[in-house]
Amino acid sequence: MAKCPLCGAPLDWAELIEQMLALDGIEEILKDRDRFMEAFEGFVFKCPHCGEEFYGRNLPAKEAEKVFELLNEFKGSIDWENRKVRLRLNSLLALDTMLEQWDRKVTQKRP
Ligand SMILES: [Zn+2]
Repeated sequence: MAKCPLCGAPLDWAELIEQMLALDGIEEILKDRDRFMEAFEGFVFKCPHCGEEFYGRNLPAKEAEKVFELLNEFKGSIDWENRKVRLRLNSLLALDTMLEQWDRKVTQKRP
């Protein structure tokens, strides 16, 4: 799970994405994986725990890609009027990781 690179506090992906919703043209950026990853890596996030700022490239890119997929997979994942993320991204990511591990276990057991 994503952690603040400065204080180590766990970060909420929904909150991180909400910080990005202030970007110009974010609605279009969120539809394009390459543009999203580029914007994400260069974006300056602010840790809600220690208040320090850091670039998105300090966070796990694999999780960011998964977040991109989740946001595009679910219709209405973002409440544009209130600039809020409706999905519980951290729970979904945790579930996804669990399923992947389970999948690996099952595959390994097969002869
Ligand atoms: Zn912090």
